[in-house]
Amino acid sequence: MKKKILVIYTGGTIGMVKDASGSYVPFSLENILQYVPQLNKTGVDLTIYSFEKLLDSAYVGPAEWLEISKKISNNYNDFSAFVILHGTDTMAYTASALSFLLNGLDKPVILTGSQIPINEEGTDGIDNFLNALSIAKEGLVNKVAIWFHQRLFNGCSVTKINSKEFDGFDSPNHEVLASLDSGFKYNKNAFYFKKTDKVFFDKIGSKVLFLNIYPAADQAEQASIIKNSLSRGIVISVLGSGTVPFKEGDVLFNALYDKNVPIIAVSQCLKGGIEVGKYESGSVLKKLNVISGQKITKEAALTKLIVALSNFDSKEKVLFYLKTNQQGEF
Ligand code: ASP
Repeated sequence: MKKKILVIYTGGTIGMVKDASGSYVPFSLENILQYVPQLNKTGVDLTIYSFEKLLDSAYVGPAEWLEISKKISNNYNDFSAFVILHGTDTMAYTASALSFLLNGLDKPVILTGSQIPINEEGTDGIDNFLNALSIAKEGLVNKVAIWFHQRLFNGCSVTKINSKEFDGFDSPNHEVLASLDSGFKYNKNAFYFKKTDKVFFDKIGSKVLFLNIYPAADQAEQASIIKNSLSRGIVISVLGSGTVPFKEGDVLFNALYDKNVPIIAVSQCLKGGIEVGKYESGSVLKKLNVISGQKITKEAALTKLIVALSNFDSKEKVLFYLKTNQQGEF
């Protein structure tokens, strides 16, 4: 019997065409399908669901993460895998959000897209789409993942690194799950095998703040933003392995302390992650009870925080969830 795969088309460059002014805008599902006649030969039974309004992924956010995750959970028993066609700009955010929303998956959920529209010469869209379908069909990676240009990445370890070239994504702190080299080569060491119960979270409402630490930042202004913010959690993007230019008692320290919400630290470095307290200039983070994001990406930190705050009713549960490796993000 043929495997059934649900394809969710959200928009993105893969299906875009140029409008009258010469800017790329999302276009119909039919536009994609006519350029991939090979779909008939994939040996799978495809069902395609298209967003009513197709989106450049700049417009994809919490409401769309939930629309995708609900589509998957409502159809979970009827399909053996799911492939999501998505713009590349925020694909890492959506993949991270889905990783934390859909716990205990025993089926693949693979996101892909392209740098060049599928109707243009030299497109990477056809290969990416067909390879994502093949990975989904093989069914060995039962988690959320991104297939892009010959590599499969853990959904919450990946970041967009290139806005032009075909290798648009990388997971600098984590090994790839698979790569293409005359057939798929799976890297079993990189699979995250923590068995969790199948819990599909269905809420995503909490606001969080992303605080960028940089030389010359106006700390009083940052403090005022924090004070007036309705956010229930903060991701603080710090220097190097975890240093910041403020001390206990400074205006920014006081604002963070008084806010009394969970704070996760992520590193601005692409590689290496966080080691809170390694330097004196970072030990202040300990006084703020900042959670070390370890090797987490900013995309995973933000979405993990949002999912935790939206779905747990006590601060203890939120903090436990945030401090624990859930999907290989640390
Ligand atoms: N702006 C596009 C998007 O993210 C870029 C892409 O798909 O590559 O939807």
